[in-house]
Amino acid sequence: MAPEVSENVDIAIVGGGLVGSSLACALERSGLSVALIEAAETPEAPSGFDQRKLALAQRSIDALGRLGVLPLLQAPPTPIRRIHVSRAGDFGRALLDAAEFGHPAFGAVVLAQDLGLALAKRVQSLKRTRRFCPARVTACRFDTDGAHLSLDLPDGARILSARLVVAADGTDSFIRHAAGIATRSHDYGQTLFVCSLRAEKANDGTAYERFSGQGPVALLPMAEGAYGAICGVASADAPGIAALEDADYAAYFQNRFGWRVGKIQATGKRTFYPLKQVLAERLHAPHAVLMGNAAQTIHPIGAQGFNLGFRDALSLAGLVLNDGLNPGTAEAYAASRQEDRARTLAFSDGLARLTANPGLPMHLLRSLALGALGAAPDMAAGLVSGAMGYRGATRFEEAL
Ligand SMILES: Cc1cc2nc3c(=O)[nH]c(=O)nc-3n(C[C@H](O)[C@H](O)[C@H](O)COP(=O)(O)OP(=O)(O)OC[C@H]3O[C@@H](n4cnc5c(N)ncnc54)[C@H](O)[C@@H]3O)c2cc1C
Repeated sequence: MAPEVSENVDIAIVGGGLVGSSLACALERSGLSVALIEAAETPEAPSGFDQRKLALAQRSIDALGRLGVLPLLQAPPTPIRRIHVSRAGDFGRALLDAAEFGHPAFGAVVLAQDLGLALAKRVQSLKRTRRFCPARVTACRFDTDGAHLSLDLPDGARILSARLVVAADGTDSFIRHAAGIATRSHDYGQTLFVCSLRAEKANDGTAYERFSGQGPVALLPMAEGAYGAICGVASADAPGIAALEDADYAAYFQNRFGWRVGKIQATGKRTFYPLKQVLAERLHAPHAVLMGNAAQTIHPIGAQGFNLGFRDALSLAGLVLNDGLNPGTAEAYAASRQEDRARTLAFSDGLARLTANPGLPMHLLRSLALGALGAAPDMAAGLVSGAMGYRGATRFEEAL
């Protein structure tokens, strides 16, 4: 058997999904040597580079522009100019217009696959990042010098040693487990169906969120007047919904969403995702940090998952750019993420549970809350700044 090859880097990022790839781009100016390790067959094929439509906060869009990723997208992001929130059976509804808050848009929508391919292209041009793909981390050992990773590559095994390992390896993170960090999980009992859709009324930059006891339904504006459609169903009903013909699914969606965009004319290929929340109890261990889905996998209802994971990546890059990589980096990173993480988790989980509870007092509360949102500019402005991602800049953005 061929002997194992050994290499050293400053930072090893395990997981080349949307968050790990973003981190590699953000670390480019740090002068550190970086390894990006991804198990998928090619750098363009991680499972997260799929047909889901991502609503990105304006702050994420701005930062992706500064990282040189936006110009590499095939389709320009579609701006979200208005947000319409309603609930089946409730009186309240809220229409938030970015122009009334002095902004051209709240954010924009991109296809996850398009963003993934743009990131993969950008990573390829990085001078200080070595990409290992396909490569799976099969063991991780920590000592006082750092982390020692065993990589399984097509041409044999390799040991990679790093001063810091970043777990960007998703919900079932191998590195999180190796670092001895426990998780808390909650199964929402919901499955989310995602597809493209055309309706009688072409999109005009409005994102619709409609809540019901069965789960959330949303339409996001996409290129050329199309919509990205999202529909939550009880997991027990998911196999039946997955088996529907396209025309029957269009009728089902119409029934759940209503007629705000006229008749649903056609739906594209459907993909679906069972929804579970998985939260790491800590974000660091000696020589290791967690970010993105490895740190927190959250309900997509508030469109916060990538936005939050991207801010994780920008925060770590900001620390390293300002203070260098040192023995205190992992702890400083965890401390820097505490407030944003806690507030975003509370927002997303609260929204998921509040909007799924069919009890009467909750029903009234929701009507009042939606009505108040439409009527009280201060309350709406708070929500808007959270949704746009402006909750205190990371040190990376300050350094740009
Ligand atoms: C339906 C849906 C809609 C969503 N909508 C939004 C939205 O509108 N806005 C938003 O901000 N977020 C949204 N999200 C959330 C967003 O998609 C995720 O937060 C984001 O994709 C997480 O990326 P990640 O890189 O952290 O994890 P992942 O995409 O899971 O990437 C982890 C990577 O690690 C690799 N890996 C795993 N183990 C190993 C190993 N041992 N060795 C090497 N590589 C390994 C995997 O192959 C994978 O590519 C949505 C999610 C869903 C499901």
